[in-house]
Amino acid sequence: MTAYDYDLFVIGGGSGGVRSARVAAALGKKVAIAEEFRYGGTCVIRGCVPKKLFVYASQYHEHFEDSAGFGWTVGETSFDWKKLIAAKDAEITRLEGLYKKGLANANAEILDTRAELVDAHTVRLVAFGKTVTAKTIVIATGGTPNHHGALPGRDLCITSNEAFNLEELPRSIVIVGGGYIAVEFANIFHGLGVETTLVYRGAEILSRFDHDLRHGLHEAMTAKGIRILCHDMLKSVAKGDDGLKVETLNNGVLDADVVMLAIGRLPNSHGLGLEDAGVKTNEHGAIMVDDYSRTSVDNIYALGDVTDRVQLTPVAIHEAMCFIETEYKNNPTKPDHETIATAVFSQPEIGTVGLTEEDAGKRYSDVEVYRAQFRPMKATLSGRTEKMIMKLIVDAASRKVVGAHILGHDAGEMAQLLGITLKAGCTKDDFDRTMAVHPTAAEELVTMYAPSYRLKDGVRV
Ligand code: FAD
Ligand code: NDP
Repeated sequence: MTAYDYDLFVIGGGSGGVRSARVAAALGKKVAIAEEFRYGGTCVIRGCVPKKLFVYASQYHEHFEDSAGFGWTVGETSFDWKKLIAAKDAEITRLEGLYKKGLANANAEILDTRAELVDAHTVRLVAFGKTVTAKTIVIATGGTPNHHGALPGRDLCITSNEAFNLEELPRSIVIVGGGYIAVEFANIFHGLGVETTLVYRGAEILSRFDHDLRHGLHEAMTAKGIRILCHDMLKSVAKGDDGLKVETLNNGVLDADVVMLAIGRLPNSHGLGLEDAGVKTNEHGAIMVDDYSRTSVDNIYALGDVTDRVQLTPVAIHEAMCFIETEYKNNPTKPDHETIATAVFSQPEIGTVGLTEEDAGKRYSDVEVYRAQFRPMKATLSGRTEKMIMKLIVDAASRKVVGAHILGHDAGEMAQLLGITLKAGCTKDDFDRTMAVHPTAAEELVTMYAPSYRLKDGVRV
């Protein structure tokens, strides 16, 4: 029998990799994990966590404004970008330490190096100039921002990676894209006082979300002063006398201090030695896996953003836990990608789970749509005009709630709880017999008794 150096070798110390390594090591397996940058990966170092801290920072000027309606007088305010960056850096360093501590406490070996496959059981540790062997390998190398290869002047642009560490807060920014990152950062920069323009190629931002939320958010962002240019693309970016000149297809030339590309992310699979090991990728470079996250090579698994599934932290972690069940607990478990609750940390926020109205109309012949649009209580005294939208999508035949969509404060928090009800298969009648919590915005979710309209074979009636 062949003896390997490790039972498990994990490549990539992000959300999926750390969870796989830590839990396998805690089960008594001999585990090593390699990370080429910083433990915690995208989520902790340059994704979810610092992004949310920036979101909080960017909300204060509205809090100051709103407080006047409640009797407060706030003195002169000012914002210090460098102070925010330093505080954010301290927090992610703390979290990185916790990730490493968790691994060490479980007895996983922590290797600060890039790792590449040599063959199905051998891994090269680039920084140490040596190879090690493992019975099982997990590839969890995540993704990297798409740098828009075709755009002249792309080297002058930043991505979300750099946005977290800009030396100075720009006076103006052009953000390209209409997805999660573009929308979240447009609100962050605007909230911090930056003149912000969003350039999106499609008809409406956030193409994969419910149309009501997309329109509602677009209107709210425009009302705040964010310029959104739909049906447009960048032709080129060049240096000007004072900042950058951004040539667009339909809106002429825009001036900006910074141009940020947020046009999706590409899998970190390049130069990993996948061909040498026999691991297959698709046309986008994503590692192909079966229902259990197993690659084309039996002893090699891949999970998280390096595969072509859903690019969210909880999904990478869930896939890691399923890998543990399958490989080490004799309990083959497929990751469940159905009905994933998600939030866009825009301002106002989006929280959503399940089918959009459009998708429900395609899947079910009779759909009930319950919709409420209202001014939240806090806005009465603050004087803010923002509206909340809440929508429940119901399959009339089974009475099941198949989609729930919210635009407004704490929508992400609500989506987490709605996620449980949809996952449990709750019906509209279950919602109706649930007592409201008063006074909250969320009480609308259990007090919309009559459908606002129906879809018959996908057509609104
Ligand atoms: P990662 O977390 O990316 O980890 C991969 C790690 O592998 C990295 O640390 C990398 O350095 C390392 N690595 C790569 N190649 C090698 C190699 N050859 N050897 C050694 N190490 C290697 N998701 C949410 O759910 N909520 C959010 O609010 C959210 N916000 C986001 C905001 C931004 C700006 C971005 C970019 C992403 C956000 N995401 C969010 C997505 C989330 O961060 C990812 O889905 C998640 O981090 C994926 O985890 P992973 O383990 O697959 O990869
Ligand atoms: P998204 O897939 O969300 O959005 C990409 C955007 O870029 C889309 O609007 C897309 O347009 C547009 N686009 C794609 N290619 C081009 C191109 N060549 N030229 C112009 N526009 C283009 O990706 P993001 O980069 O925003 O984020 C990556 C992933 O990270 C997200 O999908 C999400 O899974 C995760 N994430 C999650 C967050 C959260 O949970 N809150 C926050 C941030 C990221 P079109 O719609 O027309 O295809």
